[in-house]
Amino acid sequence: MTGAAPALRGLVKSAAGAARFRLTGRRVPLSVTLVLTHRCNTSCAPCGVPLQVRPELDASEWLALVDHLARLGTTRVVLTGGEPLLRPDLAAIVDRCAEHGMWTVLETNGHDLPGQLSQLRRLDRLMIPLHGPKAVHDAIVEPGAFDKSVAAIRAAREAGMEVGTVTLLARSTLVSVGWVLDFADQHGTEAAFQLQARRGWVASRGARRELAEDDALRRTLRFLLEARMAGRRVAMTEKLLRSLLTWPDLREPFLEVDHEDVRCMAGQTFCAIGPDGLVSACLPRSGGTLNVRESGFDAAFAALRDGACRSCIDTPCAEANFLYNLNTPVVLELARASLRARLGSAA
Ligand code: SF4
Ligand code: SF4
Repeated sequence: MTGAAPALRGLVKSAAGAARFRLTGRRVPLSVTLVLTHRCNTSCAPCGVPLQVRPELDASEWLALVDHLARLGTTRVVLTGGEPLLRPDLAAIVDRCAEHGMWTVLETNGHDLPGQLSQLRRLDRLMIPLHGPKAVHDAIVEPGAFDKSVAAIRAAREAGMEVGTVTLLARSTLVSVGWVLDFADQHGTEAAFQLQARRGWVASRGARRELAEDDALRRTLRFLLEARMAGRRVAMTEKLLRSLLTWPDLREPFLEVDHEDVRCMAGQTFCAIGPDGLVSACLPRSGGTLNVRESGFDAAFAALRDGACRSCIDTPCAEANFLYNLNTPVVLELARASLRARLGSAA
């Protein structure tokens, strides 16, 4: 990691790629989410992912895929799961992404992170769940989970790495939002908040129990917007927060309505690849039909052309859509956030 360069370089490349797409209509997977496994070493109440265990591509297949994506122009890779630290080849995949100059993010619960951290130093950012203080976090994940996640965050920050936390906006966690922002101030992390938007999550029984009321979610988003405007470490753009507040029903992330100035770019400038190689337009939209093993990535990506839906409030997807629609305030905000996160990690 060299100063603010990787994140900003990734952002500039993403914006340039989006501009090229606008001019030429040529679809390029600028950002790709690699779901390395659905296996997990814990079972969070609202999450259905570990219940959908699938066969997994092996190390050589993932490495070849990363090489191919680099040739196509991918600038940003998110490695996720399940729990990606369960893959013994994770460090090799991270290193390969870094060799290609991709901005590489790891989403992990962090439980096994401290023992593996030294092999993962080429990551540009870690995203670790933090749902609130110990009692709140452990109730949603499992007893003892808070201590493991906080140990992982501390170890990564002490190693000078950039860390974001992810807090699910759920019935039992809404009271913890202020606590998470205080934690961010104390530890130099950036706090992202996510609505229960992923289909696998809403499908589980725990997810239904944890689904907060629309008005409570709206109050929390207004609080986060004010905190964001006051300069707190909220890792969501002002545009996203304001846009979420216009969504008709925050309990329904996939309505057939349009964000006023954004069209979905999933399957055109970003996509996701499942553990078994199935290519889909985005993480919540697991609607791909072709697999890299049988069809190769190019054909599977091309088959997504008509696969995307109109709009959503899945927060990572919505933020990607703002970026790839070249929303100027969002691009500037993301640039500022990249700098702040790097300055925080250098502190
Ligand atoms: S949310 Fe993440 S850590 Fe929790 S069970 Fe699902 S995959 Fe595992
Ligand atoms: S609107 Fe686009 S990004 Fe959102 S779920 Fe649908 S396909 Fe995915």
